[in-house]
Amino acid sequence: MAEQTLEHAQPLTVLAEDEVLFRDSVREFAEAQIRPHVREMDEQAKIPRALLDKLFDLGVMAIEIPETYGGAGASFFHAVLAVEELSRVDPSVGVLVDVQNTLVVNALLRWGNEDIKRRYLTRLAASTVGAYALSEAGSGSDAFALTTRAREDGDHYVISGRKLWITNGNEADVFLVFATINPEAGYRGITAFIVERAFAGFTVGKKEDKLGIRASSTCELIFDDCRVPKANVLGEVGKGYKSAIETLNEGRIGIGAQMIGLAAGALEHAIKYTKERKQFGKPIAEFQAVQHQLARAAMELEAARLTVYNAARLRDAGKPFLTEAAICKIFSSEVAERVASLAVNLFGGNAKIGQIYEGTSNLQLQTIAKQILG
Ligand SMILES: Cc1cc2nc3c(=O)[nH]c(=O)nc-3n(C[C@H](O)[C@H](O)[C@H](O)COP(=O)(O)OP(=O)(O)OC[C@H]3O[C@@H](n4cnc5c(N)ncnc54)[C@H](O)[C@@H]3O)c2cc1C
Repeated sequence: MAEQTLEHAQPLTVLAEDEVLFRDSVREFAEAQIRPHVREMDEQAKIPRALLDKLFDLGVMAIEIPETYGGAGASFFHAVLAVEELSRVDPSVGVLVDVQNTLVVNALLRWGNEDIKRRYLTRLAASTVGAYALSEAGSGSDAFALTTRAREDGDHYVISGRKLWITNGNEADVFLVFATINPEAGYRGITAFIVERAFAGFTVGKKEDKLGIRASSTCELIFDDCRVPKANVLGEVGKGYKSAIETLNEGRIGIGAQMIGLAAGALEHAIKYTKERKQFGKPIAEFQAVQHQLARAAMELEAARLTVYNAARLRDAGKPFLTEAAICKIFSSEVAERVASLAVNLFGGNAKIGQIYEGTSNLQLQTIAKQILG
């Protein structure tokens, strides 16, 4: 039995044939259709509709949606590959695709009845962007302290309140919104609703002006007696907390994928630049201190990728993955920060100040080493 298991065990980074084809097609797309526009999208803080249409055509907006609803009928691991590859070129596009697949579609697939699946999965597969609205000004980590209220009114619920920092707010037409039907019931009052942009009483408010992932919209949502049909309650009334907790487990793996993509992109830029930039008569990549920094970044990226792929593979295998998802989220986000920071450092004065001007950190380390070694 043990031998048989071993025989079938695959290294985590070995991809199946369809996974390789899929990854390569997303990579080619990202290079051809996204890379030339990254700077402009960042400066304008906008992802153009034309690019969204191309993402739908590529099939990355409906990865796990079954073919009967117009989706690709692929695995969660495919979604991770797509988010990683897109984020390698632009993490703003990566997170747009991530929220669509790992949060919105994931929740609808899991808790949607046939009517909801038919009405919304078909749209999400064809041309509609989704958003996931849990956070509020007063409830971030303490998400279930949310105060957005839903009152019953005949065959509708009437929602009032505000959501904050909602990714895809500008692009989305369908919003998965968490509100409470009874604040006294605590988390047991929380219910998930599907809200359309066109519903009366709903508006998308201010967009945040961010430092990073600027092309990704992060918006306030305003519900002013917004009427939502009871048929748009996702899952059971009062069980929204369960949908939120469980979808966020997969969401974390998606963010892990975004982070390893971002780190891979930063490392590629750093490698290219250090081979080109000459100081002291040779490319800075030839200095051992720089080589060690790049090697450490590659090592950390590999380790982070293993945690992300492992969590995603566990999820597709139907095995518990909660701890592994948390591990991959923390580790890959920390690695992304370190690798991006190293890349910024190696770009020297092109990129930052404190650790660069009046002698870079590597040069200061050389001075210290000379002194202490005599
Ligand atoms: C760019 C961006 C996009 C986002 N997109 C979405 C989205 O699409 N949908 C959505 O619903 N939300 C979204 N969010 C909101 C995000 O989920 C919250 O920012 C996050 O949950 C943290 O909440 P907070 O920012 O209020 O921080 P807080 O919860 O206020 O935390 C502040 C600090 O206190 C610490 N802290 C809090 N509680 C504890 C505790 N019990 N013990 C120890 N430390 C604690 C935290 O670790 C953190 O360091 C987005 C945020 C950003 C910045």
